[in-house]
Amino acid sequence: MLRAEIDVEEVVMSNLRIKDCYIITMKAEEELITRGEVALEGDKISYVGEVRENVDDKNFDQVIYASGKVCLPGFINTHTHSPMILFRSFADDLPLMTWLEEKIWPLEDKLTSEDVYWSTLLAIVEMIKSGTTTFNDMYFFMDDMVRAVEESGIRAVLARGLIGLEGKGEVGLKETEDFITRWHNSCQGRIKAMLGPHAPYTCPPEFFREVLAKASKHKLPLHTHLAETSFEVQHCKDNYDKTPVELMDQVGLFDFPVIVAHCVHLTEEDMELMADKKVKVSHNPGSNLKLASGIAPLASMLGKGIEVSLGTDSAASNNNLDLLEEMRLAALIHKARENDPTVIPAYKALEMATREGAKGLFMEEEIGILQEGFKGDLILMDFQKPHLYPQHDLVAHLVYSAQSSDVDTVVIDGEILMENREMKGLDEERIMFNAQKQALELIRR
Ligand SMILES: [Zn+2]
Repeated sequence: MLRAEIDVEEVVMSNLRIKDCYIITMKAEEELITRGEVALEGDKISYVGEVRENVDDKNFDQVIYASGKVCLPGFINTHTHSPMILFRSFADDLPLMTWLEEKIWPLEDKLTSEDVYWSTLLAIVEMIKSGTTTFNDMYFFMDDMVRAVEESGIRAVLARGLIGLEGKGEVGLKETEDFITRWHNSCQGRIKAMLGPHAPYTCPPEFFREVLAKASKHKLPLHTHLAETSFEVQHCKDNYDKTPVELMDQVGLFDFPVIVAHCVHLTEEDMELMADKKVKVSHNPGSNLKLASGIAPLASMLGKGIEVSLGTDSAASNNNLDLLEEMRLAALIHKARENDPTVIPAYKALEMATREGAKGLFMEEEIGILQEGFKGDLILMDFQKPHLYPQHDLVAHLVYSAQSSDVDTVVIDGEILMENREMKGLDEERIMFNAQKQALELIRR
């Protein structure tokens, strides 16, 4: 039975206590609780603070003694395409347009439901094992993605990717409406919908306006790619005599809540416009480096007050879905770009992977920090490792030293999905086997 079909009354409310750990709440920079406790009731956090000596463990269904571990909000990946994990290592070290036109798009035309289901599950296992509790995705075969999200217990914001060329627009819009009607806010709210026009170079202005009309009708935010490559900027200049940002402003995109991925090629005016219109940005340093798209002007965007979170993009252009790696890249490459070791300090990078991610998905009232009343989405990192000693600064360790294999326990929506690195609900071996099988079948089709 799918989780969405279970009556709310039937869901067993469980109480979980995690105690004796360090807690980084992400509510304020200096806030570190050295012997802390987080209590969960159902899907929500009911307490965060010092260990309560007067509260008995017997009051809880389960108690995790987490001495030596660091508890923090789960990571939020604000831009990916999970099913593209099937193309990981299939075609590397190619220019973006060659990679897309000759390798990726021909295979995407042959994808099946089963391909998307197993690849999304594989992506979810990888994300959970590296501490991601929410991801923002744009793809197609939405029912199969939903099935994987439902079964796994992860939190996701999904958009049906829309291309407005070659007569593909109307089918995409119809599938978008079906998806929104059936699945927005399903799984006790774990699945949210957005609208996903792919990019200015694949969605002409008139099609963008059709998408915006649907966003207005359903009162939902949008997720798109913007200013990723110099090719895109040139294409926009040649066709519209505008930068991609100027074009999107003219189309009316920025009058809606929107998260845009990449923003590698921006002018000062572009950035001022985006700050003014409160456009949210997903910074994807790994993918931008691998595809040689460039290095986004992150320090300038932040300086102008733009809210920026972190994304991996797909595992085909990264090649993993590890937010710890994106944090480290964000904290390192901009120091070199700006010739200034003070830019993107560790706390800022961690904030981009948690709290700013929640803002990027318009979910800052629910996730991204550890606070009473927020969703029970958290991770425990095992700090009893040689590469995490001595412990002068736990935040610096998370950003500069930690590895995804240090993620020990993952809780999403109050449910333990991984404990002591063991997946609770998903059969990891079976998922790897089936993803491999589908990938081989796909390239032979
Ligand atoms: Zn992308």
